[in-house]
Amino acid sequence: MSSKGVTIKNLVKVFPGRGLHEKEMRAVDDVSLTIEPGEFITLLGPSGCGKTTTLRMIAGFERPTAGDIFLGDERINQMSPDKRDTAMVFQSYALFPNYNVWDNIAYGLKLKKLSGQEIQGKLEGILKLVGLTGLEKRAINQLSGGQQQRVALARALVMEPGVLLFDEPLSNLDAQLRVQMRTEIRKIQKKLGITAIYVTHDQSEAMSMSDRIVVMKNGRIIQAGSPKEVYYHPRDLFVASFLGTANFLKGEIRRREGDHIDVCLNGEIVPDVEYGGEGKPGDPCTLVIRPEACHIAEQGLIPVELTLSTFMGSYQYYEAKCGDDTVMVHENNPKNKKEYQAGENRYLNLDIADIYGL
Ligand code: ATP
Repeated sequence: MSSKGVTIKNLVKVFPGRGLHEKEMRAVDDVSLTIEPGEFITLLGPSGCGKTTTLRMIAGFERPTAGDIFLGDERINQMSPDKRDTAMVFQSYALFPNYNVWDNIAYGLKLKKLSGQEIQGKLEGILKLVGLTGLEKRAINQLSGGQQQRVALARALVMEPGVLLFDEPLSNLDAQLRVQMRTEIRKIQKKLGITAIYVTHDQSEAMSMSDRIVVMKNGRIIQAGSPKEVYYHPRDLFVASFLGTANFLKGEIRRREGDHIDVCLNGEIVPDVEYGGEGKPGDPCTLVIRPEACHIAEQGLIPVELTLSTFMGSYQYYEAKCGDDTVMVHENNPKNKKEYQAGENRYLNLDIADIYGL
């Protein structure tokens, strides 16, 4: 299997409006992206942001309105899907219901006119890889959702494509199985070193699987970076709110030195916060504060009133009133920590190194 890189240059897809009153839809709007061979990249964003359309253009199911797509060095804009060195795993699995597991997976190899012996060899390897050995003769309707998804994955992998494309492949599985399958897909992808482009609107899927996450909105890329980059250094409030949970507290910049600021928050100074904005002293700013960077204590930085205190198992969840804002607090590993109650007046402390200003 020789994995390939993908380069997208100024890609645009406009769907014409249907009828008199429907306006045309700019589903993908000037998207440029370079995906390295062997990289696992996730297109993440809310429904309608253009991630599926981008993936379908790479697969060849949609023609770009403008822009270019390269697979390795080859421009593939006009190439039909079956000629592209890509394989897609669909949300709906798209298996042949009348074929058994073996015939579903072998289908593409038979079209390629491989010998029976070659097919046998490849299938045995792939069945083992995805954990389906022993189920070869099963009909598709006698498989669980997770097993069907494995068949879909095997059917794509057995073609040894240069790039593997995933369109929300785990959406139809229950929560526990989703977590198990995402780990397995990532393991297999790493083992084979295959390039993967994965579409999802599930941020935990994106965070746990990807080398790089591409956050999209309204047909455009807002930010592309490693899971840690987009989580800790979101480009804007949209990215910050889309990845994980965050408090957004409004303050005023009091001092700026390079990319660090002192911020006045509710009359108190929060010193030396990392800052990604353009503001100067006197300007407003927003602090992006993850709940796990907040702590409740007897003494500290900002006086607050607790309005909620709930045991969540791995953390104690507090809501603390701070001026007009309500701050969410996750006190992790709470077993041996003091537990505060709703109605108490306490202090909010912050892990300042984990806060980001915008
Ligand atoms: P979802 O997670 O809901 O699938 P998405 O981010 O994948 O969303 P796309 O499916 O790429 O979004 O759709 C982007 C926009 O283009 C949406 O507004 C959608 O309604 C529109 N769109 C997609 N396909 C077509 C089509 N064939 N004709 C007209 N409009 C379309």
